[in-house]
Amino acid sequence: MSTTRHNWTKAEILAIYNKPLMELLYEAASVHRQFHDPNTVQVSTLLSIKTGGCPEDCGYCPQAARYHTDIEGNDLMSVQQVKAQALRAKSSGSSRVCMGAAWRNVKDGPEFDQVLEMVRTINKLDMEVCCTLGMVTENQAQRLAEAGLYAYNHNLDTSEEYYKEVISTRGYEDRLETIDNVRKTNVTVCSGGIIGMGEKVEDRAGMLVALSTLNPQPESVPINALVAVDGTPMEEETPVEIWEMIRMVATTRIVMPETQVRLSAGRTNMTREGQAMCFFAGANSIFAGDKLLTTPNPDVNEDMEMFKTLGLNPQKPFIKKMQPETVEAADSQFESLGEKPRWTRPEHKIDRNEEAKAQAKSRL
Ligand code: SF4
Repeated sequence: MSTTRHNWTKAEILAIYNKPLMELLYEAASVHRQFHDPNTVQVSTLLSIKTGGCPEDCGYCPQAARYHTDIEGNDLMSVQQVKAQALRAKSSGSSRVCMGAAWRNVKDGPEFDQVLEMVRTINKLDMEVCCTLGMVTENQAQRLAEAGLYAYNHNLDTSEEYYKEVISTRGYEDRLETIDNVRKTNVTVCSGGIIGMGEKVEDRAGMLVALSTLNPQPESVPINALVAVDGTPMEEETPVEIWEMIRMVATTRIVMPETQVRLSAGRTNMTREGQAMCFFAGANSIFAGDKLLTTPNPDVNEDMEMFKTLGLNPQKPFIKKMQPETVEAADSQFESLGEKPRWTRPEHKIDRNEEAKAQAKSRL
């Protein structure tokens, strides 16, 4: 019987990742069956509520304002627009809506108030609501919780060491502090990362150490395969092989047995057979919808056909945790503090980020 451990070491995780594939699959599938129904997959819809123009320099992201990419930016969506999209997602089998805004961190004010209203509106549709809005303070996390937020996404992306090769505008400790702030509420934590950014296998293991040693471990862990977008510093990275994805999913499943492991970006490059192996290896969640923020994703109908072929059923909402109550803005116990937190700004130089920025400038 497997139990949830919070003291995994990098050496132990590497030993799991590098096992002969059939042994790794067998072990992961066994752990998966112990903690989850193997025929149920949670379906989330990711909605970009504010796209592009981000001040951060994440090397993988086409929404960073400093790089030249083809994405179309948009201001914060209205509550009515979000409600309409959530209803569409619900009718096509999603139990969760994850709203993403291209912000460095949440700022108190009318835009955050509007997001809180979106959270209230979607929770009242009896769907799980998740937000990914950048760094949050404890007070902001409390206000999100009070509005009825079910999950907050804040990815660690990679190992602490390799993080310095990906982003220079914030530090790993900011990520951990935000996760900690969310943990002070009853909102669940969603945190994972990206493979295929030029990192070593040791960095993948390092990220899993950081996530699995959190206590409690994140309730969901998205595993993304880099979608290398033209104009970003990582435009020339080679796509990860499906075997790497399967190994990463299986290892995540073993070290975080209770979590929902989510297949996220990069699914358009995977065959159905490849995805089926990921489900066998312990993935039990996907992002649905034809776009993941700005990058392509399989069509919802294609996903439902795949589910039919594989005999998988979409998970109903609030199976893992009760639906939170929504407190209306007028009855809130928390007031906006107008905080100006000093999140880290290391500003070290990352060569490929600098080159992509210079190229973008030369195209102006
Ligand atoms: S990943 Fe998020 S924080 Fe980083 S540049 Fe993109 S939108 Fe901004």
